[in-house]
Amino acid sequence: MMMTELLLASNNEHKSREFARLFPGVAIRVPRDIGIDFDFPEHGESFFANAQGKAAALYRLARRPVIADDSGLCVASLGGEPGIFSARYGSAPGSAPLEAPRRNEYLLERMSGMQGRDAYFVCCLVLVLSETRFLAAQETVPGVIAQAPRGTNGFGYDPLFFLPQAGKTMAELPDVDKDRISHRGRAAGRIRALICGETDDREDR
Ligand code: IMP
Repeated sequence: MMMTELLLASNNEHKSREFARLFPGVAIRVPRDIGIDFDFPEHGESFFANAQGKAAALYRLARRPVIADDSGLCVASLGGEPGIFSARYGSAPGSAPLEAPRRNEYLLERMSGMQGRDAYFVCCLVLVLSETRFLAAQETVPGVIAQAPRGTNGFGYDPLFFLPQAGKTMAELPDVDKDRISHRGRAAGRIRALICGETDDREDR
């Protein structure tokens, strides 16, 4: 049985737009579409722990297939920062996260004068099918932190994430190219392949 609807454990509109493109033919819903106010405290120590926690928590509320994404940017010369703290980078504990442009400035300040600018994006996806069944995929894409932001597509750290093979930042790529190359595009490809091989996605099988 092919999956026709997926509940995304996120309130991030950029992510839900990407998911709608990455899972063609599958209606992507977000918690507020079904009247659920969902906010999960991400206290896990890995992308997987956070994605699994988010997906399982929303599954318990909604009792239907849920997909969760935990993603972020890791910069080698910063010891993997901001990593799982990507969304909150540069903001004081308990205070509101910085807007993306301000957060990008903060990252550039942290890296000023640094020679090593290698980085990678990580995306961990967990698809919970029932209380006892799930699929998971984690993927990455390598790049280099640019000296200044460039481009207006995408979101978050995209304007700073330079892809040497494309000669562009992620924010300069059209959506179709980001989806082909990106950490999220790659992880979604893995999950799509697993769903296609799945013969019976009913919860009560
Ligand atoms: P979370 O997965 O919602 O905890 O937050 C991930 C954070 O990492 C986002 O707020 C973005 O700033 C950043 N991030 C994740 N994926 C991307 C991407 O595809 N492009 C740019 N930034 C991203």
